[in-house]
Amino acid sequence: MSTPFKHIKSRNDLVDILGKHYTTVMIKKSLLVITLFLLFCSSMFADSQEDLKKVEKKIQQNSDKIKPKIQERKRAEAYMSNLKKEIKQTEIKLKNTKKKLKSVHKEESEAKKAVEETSMIFLNLRESFSNRIRQIYMSTQLNITDILFDDSFWLPNEEDQYFIEKVLNEDLKLIHKIKQKNIQLQNEKELLQQKRDEIIILNKDIASKEARLNKKKNAQTMYISNLTNQIKNLELQNKELERLSKELTNIILRASKDDGYFATGDYVKPVKGWISSKYGMRMHPIFKRRIMHTGIDIAAPKGYKIRAANSGKVIFSGTKGGYGKSVLIYHGKRPSDNKSISSFYAHASRLVVKKGDIVRKGDEIAYVGATGYATGPHLHFEVKIDGNHADPMLFIK
Ligand SMILES: [Zn+2]
Repeated sequence: MSTPFKHIKSRNDLVDILGKHYTTVMIKKSLLVITLFLLFCSSMFADSQEDLKKVEKKIQQNSDKIKPKIQERKRAEAYMSNLKKEIKQTEIKLKNTKKKLKSVHKEESEAKKAVEETSMIFLNLRESFSNRIRQIYMSTQLNITDILFDDSFWLPNEEDQYFIEKVLNEDLKLIHKIKQKNIQLQNEKELLQQKRDEIIILNKDIASKEARLNKKKNAQTMYISNLTNQIKNLELQNKELERLSKELTNIILRASKDDGYFATGDYVKPVKGWISSKYGMRMHPIFKRRIMHTGIDIAAPKGYKIRAANSGKVIFSGTKGGYGKSVLIYHGKRPSDNKSISSFYAHASRLVVKKGDIVRKGDEIAYVGATGYATGPHLHFEVKIDGNHADPMLFIK
């Protein structure tokens, strides 16, 4: 007789067997439910993980594009400031040559006037002198020019020569003197004309250089505004992607529901250093505009240890766009209001934990660095309540 009931000898045995059977069914049913639930969760988890990876990849790609563009703009701006300096110098030069030209023009016109005056005096003197001689030698057909300017000129007799020398010598001297002065002034005038022509050429050269520089300046202005637009677009894209990433993070947080609260007591300051930037509105060091600072910055030398602010589970460890190498720790739901708390550590030089790791308060998780959008080595530290940023100083006592 081999029935399952062969051992039943009492009511107790029956209850025992039935109980075992019932328990097995219950366990099998429960296992099925749990497996289905886990399958559901893991597929949801896998999908959002996949999406998050895609978004993060895109953010990283954009960030990779922004950095060299900012560098490029910096270089273009430096070149621009040099151009502006050069233009200023050229303008000063141009102003100086214009001033010179003006004074040369003035000198030239004065010289011209002086030449005209001496010419006039010379002509007048010669005229009156000629008249006088004509009066003396009324009967002769004297050539005035011969008397005045020909050294070989010789008067017919000694008496006459003596007379002319005596009476007219002073006049002749004066005429010659005026003539010499006129020649000298004429030369000076010619020199000034030369000088003026040289300055005009120089002026032209400087003016054309100024025009060339201005053309370059305009091209550079266009180039810089073009770069600025490109950077702006990438920034906008990244903002949108960051928002998306936050949504995905929240989905993951929901998917990895954990009723436990890993955190204990106060949160610790995650790195030794001074707080270089507080939580709240501030001027962004790279983008130069007022934006919300979603955490605190703790300045510390590269390679300083970053520690978990409290115990929890690592739910992200990797590169996250402008945040660079970063870690996200989930601390569970705090009993007081059932809100989930997580902490975020960015710009690390190296990460020492991976996703899924359980960490205790004070455990080493990464090293200080300047990856992502960072002007120098520091830790950007955030505390999130249900995925929304909060002032970390409210947690660190
Ligand atoms: Zn920061």
